[in-house]
Parts: sequence; structure tokens; C-alpha cells
Amino acid sequence: MSSADSNTPASNANRDHDHDHGKCVAEALASAERVCEAQGARLTPQRRQVLELIWRSHVPVGAYEILDAMRDGGRRADPPTVYRALEFLAGLGLIHRISTRNAFIGCSHPMSEHRAQVLLCDGCGQATEIEIGTIAQGLTDGAADLGFAIADQTVEASGLCRSCQSTAH
Ligand SMILES: [Zn+2]
Ligand SMILES: [Zn+2]
Ligand SMILES: [Zn+2]
Repeated sequence: MSSADSNTPASNANRDHDHDHGKCVAEALASAERVCEAQGARLTPQRRQVLELIWRSHVPVGAYEILDAMRDGGRRADPPTVYRALEFLAGLGLIHRISTRNAFIGCSHPMSEHRAQVLLCDGCGQATEIEIGTIAQGLTDGAADLGFAIADQTVEASGLCRSCQSTAH
């Protein structure tokens, strides 16, 4: 097997600011190709470009930032195009919507079905995805007690990442 999916879901929780981000991007795009193939979906150049722009860094990116970046790159793009691409990518689990930032991050392990928790750093702005099963289950159970059926959940927490804590004065 040449699968790169042996990473544990929480593997990027140890990510440092000076990590090899090219590797994150390469892995994300490779995963995206596989997910699309498995789902019979097409990663068109436009969708791929939106995904690449989201993976520019680990800082959540807003739809209008993406639009601006596409226009800067000489592409013709309008808001509906970007929103449709975001919807497509989110639908396949390739990106997660970060409600508190009104922005998106790339998912680091889209091959496995999961309910994400995201740690948002107030210092560098980076988002780190973790997956703690008991949180997801607790939320689902608590909601069920109220007769509420959760369709989708992303838990967001803010604070300071390890790097930002160590550089804080
Ligand atoms: Zn990275
Ligand atoms: Zn994810
Ligand atoms: Zn930080």
C-alpha cells in the first residue's frame, strides 16, 4: 500500500509555524483527487484553484479573499462561482466552514468521515483541526435528549497555539 492515510487525525495538532507547508498542500491535493474519484465528482481547474487558495496557509480564508486572489491571478470569477466551488468542496468534506470567522479551512484528512473540532489561534490566526470522539458523541447525545437531530457539527474553540504562547511577551 502506498496510502498516505496512516496519519492519525490529530497529527497536525503538533504542527509548528515553520513546518513544511508544501507537504500539507501536496497531500491535500492528492487526497482531493482521490475523494473526487471515489465520489465520481470532478475536481475542475476552478474548484482545484479554490482549494489551493484555501490551502495557501492554515489561516481560515473568506469567500471574498478567494475571489480577490482569483481575480489577481487574472481569472474571471464572480461570487456565485466561488460559492458554488466552496459548496462543492465542503460537500465532499475537503474543506470545513469556520462559522466564527466566516471563512474556510482545508481538511487535513478528508478520506475519513469525521466530525471536526477546530482550534483557532487568536495570535497567528491559524486553525488546527482535531477530532475528539467523545465531544462529537456527547453533543449528539445531548441534542438527542432534546429531540434534536444534528446533521452537521463543527466545534470551534479559540485561544493561543503553542508557538504563539512561546513568543508571547
Ligand atoms: Zn501546513
Ligand atoms: Zn476535517
Ligand atoms: Zn498561533
